[in-house]
Amino acid sequence: MGCLFCNVLEKKVPADVIYEDEHAVAFRDIRPMAPTHALVIPRKHIAAIRALGDDEAATIGHVILAARNVAKQEGLEAGGYRLVINDGDAAGQTVHHIHVHLLGGRPLTWPPG
Ligand code: 5GP
Ligand code: ZN
Repeated sequence: MGCLFCNVLEKKVPADVIYEDEHAVAFRDIRPMAPTHALVIPRKHIAAIRALGDDEAATIGHVILAARNVAKQEGLEAGGYRLVINDGDAAGQTVHHIHVHLLGGRPLTWPPG
């Protein structure tokens, strides 16, 4: 069993990795909801936003900055993009390793479903 995204990090599960740094990795979502749909994750296993420790501000902050870097790399800066973090069942979180969805490349409606 184990964590799917930890297995991606350990290359036990293949993924289309588009960004890597010391603390974060980004790869394309297997079911893209937009022309660019990447998942940006911390290398450290943290299950969800609600599981973040007060001493992990730098970790989650780094993931947001990595998502910004990926957005720039994907050419989304001019047109705009959206970052989403689902937390828990009501939000539809299915993988319990924090991930920021980076969505862009098409107009995005608001509010989301
Ligand atoms: P959540 O619903 O937890 O916010 O998002 C989980 C995301 O992970 C979904 O968008 C889903 O398509 C994606 N996903 C699930 N399994 C895999 C996988 O094995 N590889 C990749 N690249 N994405 C996955
Ligand atoms: Zn994990």
